[in-house]
Amino acid sequence: MDHAATTPVRAEVLEAMWPYFREKFGNPSSVHRVGQEARAAVETAREQVAEAIGARPFEIFFTGTTTTSDNLAIQGVLRALPKGRKAHLVTSAIEHKAVLQTCEAMEKQGHRLTVVGVAKDGVVKLDELERSLRPETVLVSVMYANNEVGTIQPLSKIAARLSGHQAVKGAKRYFHTDAAATVDFLDLDVNKLGVDLMTLGAHKFGGPKGIGLLFVRKGTPIEPITYGGHHERGFWPGTESVPLIVGMGKAMALAVKERGATVKRVAGLRDRLTRGILSKVEGAYLTGHPTERLADIASFVFPGAEGEAILLMLSEAGIAASSGSACTSGQLAPSHVLLAMGIPAEEAHGSVRFSLGRETTAAEIDYVIRAVPGIIGRLRKMAPKI
Ligand SMILES: *Cc1c(COP(=O)(O)O)cnc(C)c1O
Repeated sequence: MDHAATTPVRAEVLEAMWPYFREKFGNPSSVHRVGQEARAAVETAREQVAEAIGARPFEIFFTGTTTTSDNLAIQGVLRALPKGRKAHLVTSAIEHKAVLQTCEAMEKQGHRLTVVGVAKDGVVKLDELERSLRPETVLVSVMYANNEVGTIQPLSKIAARLSGHQAVKGAKRYFHTDAAATVDFLDLDVNKLGVDLMTLGAHKFGGPKGIGLLFVRKGTPIEPITYGGHHERGFWPGTESVPLIVGMGKAMALAVKERGATVKRVAGLRDRLTRGILSKVEGAYLTGHPTERLADIASFVFPGAEGEAILLMLSEAGIAASSGSACTSGQLAPSHVLLAMGIPAEEAHGSVRFSLGRETTAAEIDYVIRAVPGIIGRLRKMAPKI
């Protein structure tokens, strides 16, 4: 119940990766046959992912992870500005830390940052976003769907506002999205979405950890943030991780092919879970948008119980869930996403995210529905009254 943290590598993906560890272990930069075999595999994967998002292969750069892609997108676009020019960045309050902290670091370097708020359902406030735009705004970064509550952002509407906004002559603002949480569930056509940059990471959709990509629309000014090689046309230098790249291409092709069926099955199970929890746990409520949401995520607030304690008791019962994002748990601050949605801090402490996967079964969902009410009941009895 924690697939938004990571997913298992699919059998077909592992199968596709396997030869590139040993028999076909060449360096894609080598001129000999073994090297060129690896080069061909990298370029096939590039075509697979390009096709999956409606891009052209030369607009795809393989990187380290989603986090490093977010960094390359945000820092790279700012580095392409004329020397000394200070820019304005816009992002949303519910971004993953990979985006938020990168933007904050850019602010420390002298750029200006506006963090736009969200409504109760987690949707970015479009009017507030539009009002924040200035002549010197160069980059707007809004995630495609939130990895904690599942709310989908209206990217094409945001893109329309950006291009419709009165801009200073010649000035263009670029639109970046972190789409890491969406590949199994949402259409990713970069042209329909109207984005100039998009980041993805393979391990959220049945691919391996440690491989991500950045889509950069042709004509978008961007500079590298790391140096030392010609790989990925200088944007992610260092010898390509051929097996992981092959795995990402394969996982992407499978995800797109099976998306319709995956959404139908997973959303059905998610709704069964939501109905079960809400009908059996007094006071519990679902967070995020009621309908504009990812098929896999059901996050709840259980007022009067503490999230970390719930997670430990769930874990005792053999259920892996999370409170907020895996990166946020371990520190006891309530989720910045829930706070931004206006959920009071003391309630936000009682949040649990269940995220389903392709292999989740109805029996597992029913087991969770049986386990949760008792756990919440016990914790509420133990909790000091506040
Ligand atoms: C998981 C995730 C990330 C970070 O992915 P890494 O593989 O840890 O780099 C970034 N953004 C979103 C939306 C995510 O879901």
